[in-house]
Amino acid sequence: MLAQRTTLFKSSGTAAASDAAKAVAVGGKDVIDLTSGEIWSHTAPSVREGAIAAINSNINRYTDTLGLMELRHALARKISAETAQPWSADEIAVTTGAKQALFNAAMVLVNPGDEVLIPAPYWTTFPAQIIVAGGRPVFIETKHNHFVPRPADLAAAITRNTKAIVINTPNNPTGAVYDRDILASMAQLAIDRELWIIFDECYGTFAHAPHVHHPIVTLAPRARGRTLIVNSFSKSLALTGWRIGYLAGPKAVISAVKALQSHTTSNPNVIAQHALLHHLESGDATFQMQLQRQVSDARALGLSILSALRSVPQPIAQGGFYFYLDLSGLQRSAKARGHELNADDVVSTLLMDAGVATVSGTAFGDPAGVRLSYGIDLKLLEHGLRRLTATLDTWK
Ligand code: PLP
Repeated sequence: MLAQRTTLFKSSGTAAASDAAKAVAVGGKDVIDLTSGEIWSHTAPSVREGAIAAINSNINRYTDTLGLMELRHALARKISAETAQPWSADEIAVTTGAKQALFNAAMVLVNPGDEVLIPAPYWTTFPAQIIVAGGRPVFIETKHNHFVPRPADLAAAITRNTKAIVINTPNNPTGAVYDRDILASMAQLAIDRELWIIFDECYGTFAHAPHVHHPIVTLAPRARGRTLIVNSFSKSLALTGWRIGYLAGPKAVISAVKALQSHTTSNPNVIAQHALLHHLESGDATFQMQLQRQVSDARALGLSILSALRSVPQPIAQGGFYFYLDLSGLQRSAKARGHELNADDVVSTLLMDAGVATVSGTAFGDPAGVRLSYGIDLKLLEHGLRRLTATLDTWK
């Protein structure tokens, strides 16, 4: 008999969508996969060099649980530059991707029964981890406000059990980038109501002009003592498989994370740590900028194809590399004709009829959304989106 805990969460909805796409492709169908939360790219030369040098130097042992001290110093310099505030190595934990940073945060902050505010639609792992930690996710709807939470809605959801708020900007899945005003008011609310802020900026390097990514602690230095920054190199350097991320926050939190991580994964992979250290020390931003250009070109191409859609509004796509389609209009017209149309049905029709794999909004708490990743090769993106628009337009 499995632990009762296993009934509290399901496998990630995005991973399930990608598995469904692969299963259909194995059956011989030509499938263009727009489910993936990663960017199609080769590996940054500086990362490759750092990894190869580490292997050739016979580096093979445990490091400190929280990562190599030199890497934590290099990350402290990176975060100091990004936030325009001084950070030190003992405020940083190197983790096995941002996912572990978030899991650590949930496990060291959340008591059973604590509530955590999460703007919705949300990345599916946020509530799952809060639940595993014994907490209760409280969702704040953002759809009626261009996918940005309203301060009044957040304030109204706070109870004596509220412990933290998750802020993810640029946002997965919606593509929203939170501006200065909303971030400043969320920070003020956290200060006034004594909440922790879990600030996930994994897509921070992909804010599309005129939108700008703002680290919350830069806008609200007084919130720093209650903020945990979560980031990784999975998206910014297209290194999803290398599993290197970090958590930055008050020393007491980082030392609790050290104790926790010492009983789970211990240090993140040592070769990946050396590779990232070499990359950060090289100070070479060329690769990251190429990736930003690639994503920006894909976004422009995608938006131009999606602009032909007749009954689905243009996605906002302010940041990250996802188009988030709102099917509410299609659903209303279907209802007027006497049938229900939910996002899961749309996603399976897109897969079976158009050969395009997408992620249903139900994975993000939204039965009227569909997420498309534009991190893939441009030619495939173009074919995939043309097939998708043709199929979606048959619904009207
Ligand atoms: N945070 C958000 C918002 C994400 O979308 C993802 C991955 O999709 C992660 C964290 C996890 O990133 P990592 O691969 O570094 O664990």
